[in-house]
Amino acid sequence: MTSNDLADLLYPNITKTIEDLEKMYSPRNLVDGAEVCRFAPSPTGRMHMGNLYASFIPEVIANQTNGIFMLRIEDTDNKRAIENGTQLIIEDLENYNYIVNEHPIKGGNYGPYIQTQREEIYHIVAKYLVSIGRAYPCFCSENDLAEMREKQEKRKDRIGYYGHYAKCRNLSYDEVKNHIDNGDKWVLRLKSLGDFNKKIVFKDLVKGIIELPENDIDQVLIKSDGIPPYALAHVCDDHFMRVTTVTRDDSYISSVPYHLELWEACGFKAPKFAHLLPLNIKEGNTIRKISKRKDPEAAVSFYHEKGIPVEAIKLYFATIMNSNFEGWFLQNSNISYRNFTFTFNKMSKSGPIFDLEKVINISKNYLSRLSAKEVYDNLLVWANEFDKSFATLITKYKDYTIEILNIEREQKKPRKDFSCYSEIKSYIWYMYDELFDDENNYEWQNITNTDEIKNILDVYINKYYNISDDKDMWFAKMKSLSDELGYASNTKDYKDNSDKYKGSIVDVSMVIRVALTTKSMTPDLYEIMKLLGKDRIKSRFDYFN
Ligand code: GLU
Ligand code: ZN
Repeated sequence: MTSNDLADLLYPNITKTIEDLEKMYSPRNLVDGAEVCRFAPSPTGRMHMGNLYASFIPEVIANQTNGIFMLRIEDTDNKRAIENGTQLIIEDLENYNYIVNEHPIKGGNYGPYIQTQREEIYHIVAKYLVSIGRAYPCFCSENDLAEMREKQEKRKDRIGYYGHYAKCRNLSYDEVKNHIDNGDKWVLRLKSLGDFNKKIVFKDLVKGIIELPENDIDQVLIKSDGIPPYALAHVCDDHFMRVTTVTRDDSYISSVPYHLELWEACGFKAPKFAHLLPLNIKEGNTIRKISKRKDPEAAVSFYHEKGIPVEAIKLYFATIMNSNFEGWFLQNSNISYRNFTFTFNKMSKSGPIFDLEKVINISKNYLSRLSAKEVYDNLLVWANEFDKSFATLITKYKDYTIEILNIEREQKKPRKDFSCYSEIKSYIWYMYDELFDDENNYEWQNITNTDEIKNILDVYINKYYNISDDKDMWFAKMKSLSDELGYASNTKDYKDNSDKYKGSIVDVSMVIRVALTTKSMTPDLYEIMKLLGKDRIKSRFDYFN
């Protein structure tokens, strides 16, 4: 009996061969240098910042090389899978505007893109491995394996199914047939040819040259339920999906010797590997992996609720992905991060530390570069979800709101007040009568006397204020107003001879600013007054009468 007979005995229903698969999933026709990359999560729920970052990396590498980025769902461990898990992941990727060329819902020529739908492919490869003598069925029970482990512990041997511990390695065809006829449960194991005392050397795109002992464990390729664990599944998938660079969690690195043995046994050319360090977070003096459970800022929803734009978060990812990105972006902040050439060798070898402050800062800068109309549109989307009454208000006053948002924007050094959409209202509320009520907290500064305040406002509105003044005229009038009321119209004069004046033009304009907005710090007062218009200005001054 040959190994071919054994293969037929174990997989009687598999008729297709590896050659058939090679034809079905022929090499992709892409330009030179195109990278085919994938994100391969388990469908365990909403994405968090860690996996959003982990998917950013293959996405940019694939897209910048005119390659393919795909989503593959690894659901072979169905204890962890949740219903609609795939849907949620696709939604998150789409919300971040990731360009995903192939995914389970969209499809593609290299699918299915869900592992549990690829069982036939795994079995074709498994049957091939049996036929060439590189895989065999193992009938050991849980008990047998526990005994083996006990023996190994007692003898201080390495734990695992290998060497002379690999009892089922040499079962004869008839012995296997007996088990099968009996209906005994079995798993398929690799017949490893590795030698633990030898080293294997391979190159990781992030970490460089790595040396590890060869694998000599007869690992499980297919479980008794017919489903492969990660290793065989990823080899089959990455090969037949024609992946060129595998990006995945750093924790897989110790399994690379086993994986490489498997790639070789299957007769496939192994892809390049880039093992990614997890996103870390600093907690006091310790650094640990970012955690969905412990860190609110790990949740994607955290940013969505705050209204931090996804583009800003992607700029942050770009910044932590490549150490030379930030410098480039300083010179190129008016163009997309996609114009930068990302590389694996500029990735941190110690793992990026997630820094919320930095995200916020990037977001502030990003928002300052948007046009008023863009800010308005995004603000409205945010408000429609999180602040309905504000959404109604800014819809009613659409043009007015855009003009408000345009104060000190669309210029060389735009103003940078808010870092997210949820903050905008707190910066512009006083522009709307609907939000301006009697419980305002006026932030008076040097001048607090009510009669003096009233006097300044009266003289100003009756004698000087004119809605059609341009900025120079407006300012000249502020000066005249100050002179008339005994305030220095020039701050230098005031510094030199402060005893001659009640105060300076700064104090006078502060009274007007606070009366109109309640705030002591606002953007350009002239612009604000221009937008508020005569009626609003009058009624806000009237409040002090
Ligand atoms: N499904 C694996 C995980 O969620 C990812 C494996 C891979 O990217 O190759 O950890
Ligand atoms: Zn066995």
